[in-house]
Amino acid sequence: MIHWFRRDLRLAHNPALAWIEAQQASLLPCYIHAPEEEAPWPPGAASRWWLHHSLTALASDLAAHGVALQSRRAASSALSLLELCRASGASTVTANRRYEPTLAARDRQVAAQLAHHGITLQLFDDGILCPPGELLNRQQRPYRVFTPFAATLRQRLITPPATAPATAPAAPSRSEQRVALAATAEAEIAALHLLDPHPWHQRLQHHWRPGETSATAALQRFLESALGDYPAAREIPASPGTSRLSPHLHFGELALSQILTPLLPLLGGEGGAAAAAGAERFYLQLAWREFARHLLHHYPDSDQKPLNPRFHTGTLWHHQPAALAAWQRGRSGIALVDAGMAELWESGWMHNRVRMVVGSLLTKNLAIHWLEGARWFWDTLVDADLANNSLGWQWIAGCGADAAPYFRIFNPETQAQRFDPEQRYRNRWCQLPLATPMVDLKQSRAAALDRYRRG
Ligand SMILES: Cc1cc2nc3c(=O)[nH]c(=O)nc-3n(C[C@H](O)[C@H](O)[C@H](O)COP(=O)(O)OP(=O)(O)OC[C@H]3O[C@@H](n4cnc5c(N)ncnc54)[C@H](O)[C@@H]3O)c2cc1C
Repeated sequence: MIHWFRRDLRLAHNPALAWIEAQQASLLPCYIHAPEEEAPWPPGAASRWWLHHSLTALASDLAAHGVALQSRRAASSALSLLELCRASGASTVTANRRYEPTLAARDRQVAAQLAHHGITLQLFDDGILCPPGELLNRQQRPYRVFTPFAATLRQRLITPPATAPATAPAAPSRSEQRVALAATAEAEIAALHLLDPHPWHQRLQHHWRPGETSATAALQRFLESALGDYPAAREIPASPGTSRLSPHLHFGELALSQILTPLLPLLGGEGGAAAAAGAERFYLQLAWREFARHLLHHYPDSDQKPLNPRFHTGTLWHHQPAALAAWQRGRSGIALVDAGMAELWESGWMHNRVRMVVGSLLTKNLAIHWLEGARWFWDTLVDADLANNSLGWQWIAGCGADAAPYFRIFNPETQAQRFDPEQRYRNRWCQLPLATPMVDLKQSRAAALDRYRRG
């Protein structure tokens, strides 16, 4: 059977791989890079860096079990799969679902094209806590407000989710065979040309190790040493207080069941009060991630259009290329904002609180469209994720389903005093002397309130 890897780049707790193992079928794994099918959101530059290294790690793990990962660049996933089926004689293709509306539609088309040739596409749920569409409010409508959504989701989690066993696809291979398989797979991954020719991305390797092994280690580290302090430490950009699991989760290097199995007993109080409080707060972040997936499923154009129709007029934001470029380059002259944009540029990641601060400045004080910010994040974040990014930007722009009310405008200076009182974060990331502030915070706040009031 062919397994079509997408955003499930791991061997353990992988529902499709566990199913193949249960059928006692042999495994032919493949990865197909077809960015045109992901338009208008093909993977950005930082994502492609992660993908390159995550695929390399996966290929090496598969080679250790005597299995070769086959990677292809293709205009059509369906045609590429048909070719692989023809060459191998396989009549079943497995994959773990993608929930982004464009990709779910693509998968339906692929299934139809394969069926035409007598080949079955077998899809499995993965990367979510509850399939979008299954969690509705009392009126049988999608939740648009987070708190009741998270409460209902929580009730479904009382029993741990079914966990697929750790999968070892085949017998361990001899070392020469392993080296040869990994070398062939690496050559195919290189031919995908995921990495930009200019080696700007080399700096990312000082901050991240993509792949299943480091994802599992990062989770372990977080649960053992940071969960108890998480409720307070998660707000401090200078402290390593959050899990930094977002890129691992986006690429499916970790199954949610691997997080929930140790988390649920802590939520129930088994580890003491501090662990329970940490687990509760952490669960809420996973619920935000889930909420984002459900919203994008129910409102498929919310990656492009405000969820709140009141803001469809488009008069709130203006095209301002010079101001946008200054914001992107971390030259706004506002220390916390410039530090955040520098952290993003250097490391491919930004602390959540600072994401909110830079987003508020862009959409409210500078009156630039949230999609401009979403596109910049898309290209520069290693954790760029369509559901989370769309939700985050709509939330901060005040135009989403359960958005920060429009009159909530973050003041970067007050935020810096509260969350970076010793300037550790700003000193770490602001290497250049500050430019003159590009905007008067007080005046632009008043102007934003006026614009939003008029809608
Ligand atoms: C404007 C804006 C854009 C964003 N874009 C993205 C994005 O492209 N990809 C992305 O993964 N997150 C995005 N976020 C959400 C959040 O900032 C990151 O998930 C978080 O900073 C990742 O760090 P962590 O793994 O240490 O998080 P932790 O605090 O350890 O949280 C654990 C996990 O919960 C999820 N999570 C946490 N906060 C949120 C949230 N607010 N919304 C949805 N899921 C959340 C993530 O998967 C995260 O890995 C965005 C937020 C904003 C305000």
